Amino acid sequence: MDKKKELLKRIPKIDEVLKDQRLFVFFENTARGLIVESVREITDEARNRILCWSEGEPPFPDFENMINDIIDRIYRKRQRSLRRVINGTGTILHTNLGRARLSKETCKNIEETATNYSTLEYDLKLGNRGSRHDHIEKLITKITGTQAAMVVNNNAAALLLCLSELAEGKDVIVSRGELVEIGGSFRIPEIMKLGGARLVEVGTTNKTKIDDYRNAVIDGQTAILLKVHTSNYKIMGFTADTSLAELVELGQETKIPVVYDLGSGLLIDLQKYGIDEPTVIESLKPGIDLIMFSGDKLLGGPQAGIITGKKEYIDRMKKHPLARVVRTDKMTLAALEATFCEYLDLEKAKESIPVLSMITVPIDEMRNKATLLAERIRQATDAFDVEVARTEGQIGGGSTPNLYLPGYGVAIKGREMSLDRIERDLRSYQVPVIVRIYQERILIDMRTVEEEDLETVGKALLWCKEKYDKGKKRDE
Ligand SMILES: *Cc1c(COP(=O)(O)O)cnc(C)c1O
Repeated sequence: MDKKKELLKRIPKIDEVLKDQRLFVFFENTARGLIVESVREITDEARNRILCWSEGEPPFPDFENMINDIIDRIYRKRQRSLRRVINGTGTILHTNLGRARLSKETCKNIEETATNYSTLEYDLKLGNRGSRHDHIEKLITKITGTQAAMVVNNNAAALLLCLSELAEGKDVIVSRGELVEIGGSFRIPEIMKLGGARLVEVGTTNKTKIDDYRNAVIDGQTAILLKVHTSNYKIMGFTADTSLAELVELGQETKIPVVYDLGSGLLIDLQKYGIDEPTVIESLKPGIDLIMFSGDKLLGGPQAGIITGKKEYIDRMKKHPLARVVRTDKMTLAALEATFCEYLDLEKAKESIPVLSMITVPIDEMRNKATLLAERIRQATDAFDVEVARTEGQIGGGSTPNLYLPGYGVAIKGREMSLDRIERDLRSYQVPVIVRIYQERILIDMRTVEEEDLETVGKALLWCKEKYDKGKKRDE
């Protein structure tokens, strides 16, 4: 009993803890209330543990341990819910991890626009109201060679707006091979219903011919010939697909607009890197009337839907009430303008736009990073078996199915810790590190990890080990 009293006396007073230099150094800009609350919680927890303490167990608390726990607690309390993680999965456009990372220039432009007043809807020449569409319309039409363009919240919204303006109460013809579902909630038949259009399916799952479209056209009733890029699946074997050129020809003959939902907005030909995705410019070549694509897939920009093509249709869509409902905010516009600006120099874009630089990164660079990380881990601790390993990355974001990008990473096994435990602890580190378990190893793919993040990854692993050791000591 006396021992307990003695231990309780060891718990430092809150005021005493608050004087500790480390709390000032780490948390100079943190609200004092939050620090006090953390100190109180940790000291309370120590008190409760002492009350359950029984003779024979090692004595505690230890001041140093308590300070570390407090620092940890403050970090956790300060954490935002939406926060950065390190993506060790090798999937570049990981939808759950925020799809595209933005270029440095893009982030600068967002900050500049967000912290200041801007020309969002102001025409500097006239000194009065302008349009938010104007900012990037010129840039998009210049890069893609189209007449007009507009930007909405995402590509799903782009298609919805297009159907609502051009096809409400009318027919939209789509091939049965292209009735796509993207990520659960975006399904072509459902968007069609939402847009008030009647879906007319033609052809079969594996084969659709131009005559299937032709036979379905009803004069005065058919509003759109829609082509949807099968972004996230491929139909192979005995197949036939209608080319854009054939559709355009039929469209011209029947005076029905041809619309292409391209999905990913790839602007640079990446065949050289084994990526067989249609580019925006190549898709426009046959003369389609409207094309739409995402801002945050292979374009490498913010979440947005870009619609570009014939002016008469774009002008109509801009005036539709839904355009207001699905409009983008200034930060998205700032990001998108800066992203498109990167494309004015295609070679530079491959380096400055993270999505493209992660696709085109030389394999040696990944191997070097893997070697560095493996070495760093081995030097820090012998708790893991560490190897440099070959990896297969992916583009992701519902694009290029079955395409694996050969790369390098680090494969890790715990000498004592289980893979599940390492994976879970890495995810609960200050900067969560998201990894895959593959072939009985933790795999950290260097394709999606920047060199400046290697130190953090190393620290995260070391933290996992320390956490494990602490737990073991407690159990003993
Ligand atoms: C991804 C995709 C969409 C949806 O785009 P979001 O920008 O995610 O709304 C629509 N159509 C196709 C073909 C796609 O690949």
